[in-house]
Amino acid sequence: MQEILEAIQSGASGDDIANVPIPESYRATYVLRSEQEMFEGVASEDKDPRTSLHVGEIATPELAPDEVYLAVMASAINFNTVWSSIFEPVSTFGFLDRLGKESVWGARNAQDFHVVGSDASGVVLRVGSAVRNWKPGDRVAVHCNHVDDQDPSAHNDSMLAANQRIWGFETNYGGLADLSIVKANQLMPKPEHLTWEESAVSALCGSTSYRMLVGEHAARMKQGDVVFIWGATGGIGAYATQLVLNGGGTPVGVVSSESRVKLLQAMGCDAVIDRRAEGYQFWSDEHTQDEGEWRRLGKKVRQLVGEDPDIVFEHPGRSTMGASVFIAKKGGKIVTCAATSGYMIEYDNRHLWMKLKSIISSHFANYQEAWNMNRLIDQGAIQPVLSEVFTLDQVGEAALKTHRNQGEGKLGVLCLAPEAGLGIADPDKREAIGEDKITLYQRHARGEL
Ligand code: NDP
Repeated sequence: MQEILEAIQSGASGDDIANVPIPESYRATYVLRSEQEMFEGVASEDKDPRTSLHVGEIATPELAPDEVYLAVMASAINFNTVWSSIFEPVSTFGFLDRLGKESVWGARNAQDFHVVGSDASGVVLRVGSAVRNWKPGDRVAVHCNHVDDQDPSAHNDSMLAANQRIWGFETNYGGLADLSIVKANQLMPKPEHLTWEESAVSALCGSTSYRMLVGEHAARMKQGDVVFIWGATGGIGAYATQLVLNGGGTPVGVVSSESRVKLLQAMGCDAVIDRRAEGYQFWSDEHTQDEGEWRRLGKKVRQLVGEDPDIVFEHPGRSTMGASVFIAKKGGKIVTCAATSGYMIEYDNRHLWMKLKSIISSHFANYQEAWNMNRLIDQGAIQPVLSEVFTLDQVGEAALKTHRNQGEGKLGVLCLAPEAGLGIADPDKREAIGEDKITLYQRHARGEL
């Protein structure tokens, strides 16, 4: 990999990069099939990704005709890597085995190790024989929608494809590694005003939020909409907040600490709720929700912005869904992509049907939506929310931090990039957009806000 890194850092041409040999093995982060039951009987919050995520050499897989070999310069921690590392709600080896049975190329995925990671920025090293739009030397960001485009079900909205998968979660050979295999239709141009690590953190979370709020398949936010956002400085929430502001809406952001309140205000979100300070208790016991608490939250929103939310951006799941359905405006939408606190959801259906509200499901994003989100980042309209940078050897610590809700925005991971701050090819554009804007989350993490 050293030769590859030197070629990239010296600005070698695409032809030269195409001639650097692909190594027979590479460094990667993986979980092991033999350990998938290691946390049996352990409470979810006590499961420690540091014990299940390993960093070591794995054999380089063969390249399929529709794929590229990518030198991964940086990657990011996503919550799906937390799920993989604690083997919840299911072990990911079942996904790999199913993919393994699908085709000759799919069979490469069914291994006793699972290389995880669903974000990356990097450089194309080789392209398969069927790849047309990309070439060695291209600097790219990668989105994680893994689709077989020979299946007709993939050709309206590819998120509805029968074989749609999330790369690095439901496929092997993901991004938390020095090298990866990526389908050509996962590639997007790297925003060149950003560093490797800044350009590696937005594709999964940003595109998810884009589809939930902006794309035509989910909540379809309009100018002027009030959008209530849980976890408004978290991975998807921080992009949601920016998309609402950029799209002429009014975000009402919820966070759980004074420091996050400050960060949210610095992003330009004026209506902020500190859920910990307010002490909301939506569940009075394991089986009973407290409608009085839903009302208290609804009143707080009216007090802040004078009306009920047109859209509720929902992902905590069991702990908040009852409240989310209650506080949405008559005819409003609750858009959900997750259930971090539990997926067996309860809400009062009377508040849904009598007020003609709708619950809309959303999951990642199709190529066009991911591309549109990447374009907004490239234009400088949306900023990456990278707060801290870890090395590949520290991936377990970074995943633990996300698992414990201790990180802001996104945690970046340096893979082949030897240090942070590299990879900016358009410094003038960076200056025009504003260093302070781009690095807001990093400055906050350093205590500079
Ligand atoms: P983060 O941990 O980065 O952020 C989540 C935020 O949610 C936290 O910052 C926290 O904010 C808030 N939160 C957590 N638990 C609760 C709770 N019980 N009640 C209220 N708020 C809570 O995670 P991500 O934003 O990256 O992901 C969020 C969820 O979305 C995960 O479950 C993830 O797997 C899923 N996801 C799904 C995708 C899809 O395509 N379907 C794509 C991306 C993510 P605070 O404490 O400040 O309120």
